[in-house]
Amino acid sequence: MQLLLSSNEVDDAFGSVAPAIHQSSLFTFPTYDALEERFSGKSEADIYSRTSNPTVRLLEDKLAKLERGDAAIAFGSGMAAISGAVLSLVKAGDRIVSTFNTYSDAYRLFEILMARLGVSVTYVDCNDIDELSNALVGARLLFLESPSSYVFETCDIKKATDVAKQHGVITIFDNSFASPLGQKPLLHGADIVVHSISKYLSGHSDVVAGCVVGSHDLINQIRDTALPLLGAKLSAMEAWLVIRGLRTLPMRLREHQEAADFVVGKLKDDSRIAKIHRAMPSSTLSGAGGLFTVELADGLDVRAFCDALKVFRLGVSWGGFESLALPASVAARIDSDRKSVV
Ligand SMILES: *Cc1c(COP(=O)(O)O)cnc(C)c1O
Repeated sequence: MQLLLSSNEVDDAFGSVAPAIHQSSLFTFPTYDALEERFSGKSEADIYSRTSNPTVRLLEDKLAKLERGDAAIAFGSGMAAISGAVLSLVKAGDRIVSTFNTYSDAYRLFEILMARLGVSVTYVDCNDIDELSNALVGARLLFLESPSSYVFETCDIKKATDVAKQHGVITIFDNSFASPLGQKPLLHGADIVVHSISKYLSGHSDVVAGCVVGSHDLINQIRDTALPLLGAKLSAMEAWLVIRGLRTLPMRLREHQEAADFVVGKLKDDSRIAKIHRAMPSSTLSGAGGLFTVELADGLDVRAFCDALKVFRLGVSWGGFESLALPASVAARIDSDRKSVV
């Protein structure tokens, strides 16, 4: 694992341990024949960095191996990965089944853009297998996020994806909160894994990036639509920063988990805290990770709580070196009919 995260498989005439940053928009061909071979699909040389780039490919190979997929595509953000995958696989009239507490912009993608394109979305409790099975009749995609945003609830990946398979439905799984080291959904039946690389995988709050991982078939379908037509590529420089971040992923995750264990340990018996939401490790999920949500006891002022924080800064996102808090009262503007507890 450490070797995979730290290796530099790119041929390098100088023997450097860090990969080269191929900061080039285009790649040239020595002869007419070489150019023709590439365009007729007989060779795989890079043409233009909107569709492929050697530094980005090095990252994609690592991500595919980490998640145990055949192939991966890196994107300019986690949302580009999610919308790229979804838009590549649906058409007007299709229906998506989604878990309740998805990342808020994934929810907005479904409610705003998908609705406009004639794709409907049904929200279900993915641990209620009967409800899930009913919703999946005639659906095209199942969208799972586990642990989920805000409340870190988990679903039984194997059970949910088994039902999806029975209905011929493709499962897209947002694995950002667990990271590939915490859980590998492709091994438990998911068809496509998506990540916000901006979080744990890059790990230093200096990159916005995303990826999809899956079988050759599905990844080629997504690659042919999302990169040339939607253009949501990742830059070579940012791919390089992620490759650097990956080298310390196991150590960083251990620290995140220990730090969260420490803080949760201090809070859990405090009478001013009504409830703590944190992911529950299971047979597929190896750790609770570094995130948790607290509900303050009745009558306590969220604003005063936030303004009194010393180590934690107020801000969105997560997975970097800094401790962050985000009040749901400000950030989670989610429809009440979505049954969210936030
Ligand atoms: C942040 C996040 C995303 C979106 O990723 P970006 O890189 O910010 O576009 C998607 N899913 C989850 C679970 C996230 O936390």
